[in-house]
Amino acid sequence: MTHVGIVGAGAAGAAAARTLTDRGATVTVLEKSNVVCGRAASRTREYDGHRITYDYGANYLKDDDEGVVELVRDSLDGEGLVEVAGPVDVFDESGTVSSGRDSDDSKRSYRAGISSLAERLLDGTSARVEHGVRARRVRRSDDCWRVVDDDGDGWGPFDALLLTPPAPQTERLLRAGDPGVRRRALADAAAAVPYRSVYTGVLGYGFRLDRPYYGLVNVDKDHEVGWISREEHKPGHVPAGQTVLVVQASPDWSVAHADVDPAETTATLADHAASVVGDERLGDPAWTDHKFWRHALPDDGVASGPVADAADAGLHVAGDWVAGAARLHAAVRSGLETGAAVSVPDRRG
Ligand SMILES: Cc1cc2nc3c(=O)[nH]c(=O)nc-3n(C[C@H](O)[C@H](O)[C@H](O)COP(=O)(O)OP(=O)(O)OC[C@H]3O[C@@H](n4cnc5c(N)ncnc54)[C@H](O)[C@@H]3O)c2cc1C
Repeated sequence: MTHVGIVGAGAAGAAAARTLTDRGATVTVLEKSNVVCGRAASRTREYDGHRITYDYGANYLKDDDEGVVELVRDSLDGEGLVEVAGPVDVFDESGTVSSGRDSDDSKRSYRAGISSLAERLLDGTSARVEHGVRARRVRRSDDCWRVVDDDGDGWGPFDALLLTPPAPQTERLLRAGDPGVRRRALADAAAAVPYRSVYTGVLGYGFRLDRPYYGLVNVDKDHEVGWISREEHKPGHVPAGQTVLVVQASPDWSVAHADVDPAETTATLADHAASVVGDERLGDPAWTDHKFWRHALPDDGVASGPVADAADAGLHVAGDWVAGAARLHAAVRSGLETGAAVSVPDRRG
């Protein structure tokens, strides 16, 4: 039986695990955190006696890939899949809001948070997910792939290995391994993928904001804030009478504030939100949360040559940076395609 190791239980890793187990492979997923779905991240908390859910990485799944939409809507457990209601309007450098382009694109999340997507992909598969395992280096011996984690423990042997962390983390994993021409070329290609950083502030309020839009996007890219959205537009996320804003700072502002006291950073983002939305109450949130995403969004895809060469030796990569689009549906697509491309002898053969 073919044993495939997957590093990372984000959307790409989970989609690949699903495809590979369907094809008869034994799959072990090594995931550093205690949750799944990586940058499509959700959290819950209590406020005023009510439970709140919010998505603080990817805001929603777009419907740009028909196959991924069908999978999510029709083939996975669709329980709790929700449509995000309301338009996305725009604001400029001065913070002036105007109507956005009309769009009837669907935006989806889950009642329990967008991270449910990877849970659904893994549900019912035989894939084993090992949480709290941070892969440190990749080894090749006896024609097999092995992974050594931060504690020095070894995983494998694997007939094929799939790496799905963001490109800079995949590069580190490859460089830390034994020397190998294919791995060096793949590490160099991963290193060349440019990334944007995003500082996310989550701001909670004990009142319901009265505005027609779900989100606001800065179109000229000259504002300190790039995106503001309202989690109460996702069914099941925010109780009546409350508001939760997700405020994403521009890449430059994000990097400049990565090491600033989060209390100061979220206070500044709250002031920006109050000014753009035009409601001074937003300057004083009841609670806050934050996350600095250093490698938030790849701005380009990895060169395909080194990826194909490494795949010939049973070393695969998948993720949004392999797809060349910083989108959740692209990560799922990349995982599905890579899972289908890994060599697994036909189980009927
Ligand atoms: C702030 C923000 C907003 C976004 N907004 C949107 C949006 O609205 N719509 C949209 O479509 N997309 C959005 N995206 C992009 C979307 O989140 C990503 O494209 C998608 O989630 C990438 O999935 P992935 O599986 O490729 O990578 P990841 O989600 O990064 O998954 C990689 C996994 O590998 C794990 N890992 C990393 N290193 C190791 C290691 N050494 N050992 C073990 N495990 C490891 C991580 O914990 C993670 O679970 C946004 C992203 C961010 C950060």
